[in-house]
This record gives sequence, C-alpha cells and structure tokens, in this order.
Amino acid sequence: MKFSDLGLSVELEQTVNQLGYAVPTPIQEQAIPQILRGRDLFGCAQTGTGKTASFILPMIDVLQGSRSKVRMPRSIVLEPTRELAAQVLESFEAYGKDHKLKAALLVGGESMVDQEKHLKRGVDVLIATPGRLLDLFERGQILLADVKILVIDEADRMLDMGFIPDVDRIVATLPKMRQTVLFSATMPSEIKKLAQAYLINPKEIIIAPTTRTAATVTQHIVRVEGTRKREVLRQILNMQNNSGPIIIFCNRKRDISVLTLSLKKHGFDAGSLHGDMAQSQRNQTLEDFKSGKVMILVASDVAARGLDVDGLSLVVNFDVPMNAEDYVHRIGRTGRAGKAGVAITLVSHQDEKYLAGVQAFIQQEIPVMILEGAPSKKEGSFNKEGKSQAKPLSKVKEKMDDTHRRHPQKKKNEAQESIANGADAAFLPKPDKIKPQRHSKKPYRQTEEAPSEQRIGFGADVPAFMLKSVALKLS
Ligand code: AMP
Repeated sequence: MKFSDLGLSVELEQTVNQLGYAVPTPIQEQAIPQILRGRDLFGCAQTGTGKTASFILPMIDVLQGSRSKVRMPRSIVLEPTRELAAQVLESFEAYGKDHKLKAALLVGGESMVDQEKHLKRGVDVLIATPGRLLDLFERGQILLADVKILVIDEADRMLDMGFIPDVDRIVATLPKMRQTVLFSATMPSEIKKLAQAYLINPKEIIIAPTTRTAATVTQHIVRVEGTRKREVLRQILNMQNNSGPIIIFCNRKRDISVLTLSLKKHGFDAGSLHGDMAQSQRNQTLEDFKSGKVMILVASDVAARGLDVDGLSLVVNFDVPMNAEDYVHRIGRTGRAGKAGVAITLVSHQDEKYLAGVQAFIQQEIPVMILEGAPSKKEGSFNKEGKSQAKPLSKVKEKMDDTHRRHPQKKKNEAQESIANGADAAFLPKPDKIKPQRHSKKPYRQTEEAPSEQRIGFGADVPAFMLKSVALKLS
C-alpha cells in the first residue's frame, strides 16, 4: 500500500515523502483511513511502529479548515510522560510544517504561566500529561467543550503510573460527541475495560511484532557480582569507545546519581535522567543527549518508552528491570529505524530472579557474554593522548550458551551477516579475522564536535516486523 491510498491530503503526502517515508507502516495503513472517517479506534501497538504518525497525520487533515477559539482546544493527546509528550509535539511540528495548526504542550514541571499564554492564543492540538491538564482545567484556564478528537496514548503505561483516575475525570468533562483513539502496547483486562468505557464501536487493530524484541538488537547478559558492576560497566564502555550515544538504565533513582558521578569521576561524559529531577533539568539533559553533547545517559524507566535518539548503539541495563516488559522497552531504544544495536544486561545474584522473568517474557534465553580479564586498575583506561587502553576487541569473548553445539562455519557466517547489517563488532560472536566497519562518531569524553544530524524515518529500511499485522478480536 502507498500513502496515496490512505486518503490523506496531497500536502501531507508530500510531507511524508520529504521525510523519506516510502510506504505506510501497518498501523498507519489501518489507522489512518479509520481516523479520517471519524471512527473510534483501539490500537494495540508499541512505540517504534510508526504509531505517532498514524494519529497525527489524519488529525492534521481533520482539523485543517477550521480554527480554534481562545482556551478551547479542538483535540487532545494524552501521554504518560513529559518526554513522550514533547516527542509527540516534535512529530506534530514535523508533519504539520505546511499547515497553520497550533499545538501546545501541557506538562508538569514547566511554567504554568507560559502554558496559559499558549491557551489564550488558541490551540488546535493540546498534547498533555493528565495531571497538568486537569490542574489547568480546574483553574478555569481550559474549556474542553470544543474537543472533537481525544487520543489516549500508551494507555497501559498510564495504568502502571496510576493516571487512569485522572484520565477518567478528563474524559468525563469532554463532549459525548467526539472521536476517541486509544493506544496501548499491551492489553491487560483493565485496558479492555477502559476501551469499552471510552470508545463507541471502535475499529480494533493489533500490530504484533513477530518477536517481542527487535531482531536488530543483539542481546547479551554479563554475570557479575553486585559490588563489581561499576567496574565491569566501565570495561564495557571502554570497549565501546568512539561509538554512538549510550543509555544505561538503573532500577533505583539513587543509583542513577551515584553512577553518573562515578562515571564522570572516571572521565566519562555522562548525564542523569529520572522522574525526581526538575523538568528544566530533564529537558536540558535530554537535549544534550539528543544533540550529542552528552554521550552517556544514565536513566530510570522514564526514558524506557518511546525515546527516539538517532544512532543509539548500546543500551546497558545496570540492573535487570523488575518488570519484564520494561526490558523490552529499554532495549527498544536501540536497534531502531532499521539500524543494528546492542543491549547488555549486568546480572548479579540479586538480579537472577528478574532475569528469569525477562527470559520467560521474551521467550528467549539471552546469550552470556564473558569479558576477559579484570578491568584495569587505572580506570578510564585512557592514556594521556586520550587513546583507549582497554582490551582489544579481539580479546572480547562471547560465549553463547549453546556455543559448543554450534558449527564454527555457521557461527562465522552469522557474524559476517550481522556485520553486513551494521551491528557493532565488539559485541558480535567472536569476530575471528573479520574486520568490521565501525560507525565511529564521538568518544564519550567531551569534544568540540558539532551535534550529529537527526535522522527521521526509515527510508527504504523499514524492519520486516513492522510490515506484519494481525486483526484483533476483543472479548
Ligand atoms: P513511532 O512509533 O511513532 O515512535 O515512530 C518510530 C519512528 O518511525 C520515528 O522515527 C518515525 O519518524 C519513523 N516512521 C514513522 N512512520 C514511518 C514510515 N512510514 N516510514 C518510515 N519511518 C517511519
């Protein structure tokens, strides 16, 4: 199917063309015509499937033609986190660049005064987290009587974060005559109930990735004593020297601050991101990370969903996430847009029980990587010229659990294939004599280099799993 088959305006077809989107993704193929027709929709799809465009593009066409009134938004997109809300705004600006529609972000932690100013000017699309939207509504700053389209994105995440009562209150204040679109990455019974409560005769779409984890992400675990995690992490980072940006996920917020300080102390260029930080700090850190100013982001699960950072080559789980599904979201920050990525999870004795949960959830055993030799005592492993003294890549041995059963030639073929696909050789099955093409970008220490350009879209490289879809039946 082509974008021209979906019923979008010519202007939007041109925009997606300019963005390099060759064909619509399955969620776009199915959702766009329904939203254009004004039908309610229940979509089960994860971030990374092109979900944002599937509702923003038709929304732009539906809203085009009439204007918003002061304090009366014509559509609302609810997001669970401020970062996701900001990302949806970015997409809206990219897709709606040739339209005169106005969007505003209403998220907690930012100045209410500025947000009120936006509302006074009139807003077509309000992208909000539920708490702040309610705050402003209760202060009489927003009138919701003109809302024609409501999008509830990442509904299961809203449920996990305890936002559903707020969402309920918002929905209760909206006009009955409206179009509602609800997206959720998973479908627990609570979400099905929500869909029944909020939607009228919805079109149901489920986009099931063939595997829960993308084939473009090479996964490993490294078994390590809890007290040695930082040391082993530094060893991994030194091996990865001169590659793209990295996210390190921690389970506890206090570990994030301690780890960031420790990395900085050892000469790494790291920043923190977690929910207890002031919004201005969160924005600054994310901006620095996205622009390449900071190369290592140490984060909580606030960064696990939806964040799209160009060229992110490695995700490290400093701890195994307690919630198995978070593992999928965390490692999904890499291997995006058809590019190869690597995910390494540090597993201590305490993490083992969570690892079992993760492996059961993804229905796959994650190969064990053995790092040879203890990390150098002189941490940072950089000499005076800034050159890495870490062990050469060839010394990095990976031991797949079934290595002894695999044919050596097959193993080599697999390695060659992965390299051809752009995977980072440092983490591939033992590279032997194969010389990988590394995508050298910027070392993790601060340099004066200009930020790398943001790539939008897959071009012709849409991953195969995105091209499959199955129909959903709600019980
Ligand atoms: P999302 O699932 O909305 O977070 O989108 C994930 C990524 O896919 C974003 O970087 C989008 O720019 C990109 N994208 C969305 N639709 C398409 C498409 N039809 N072709 C190629 N890339 C796309």
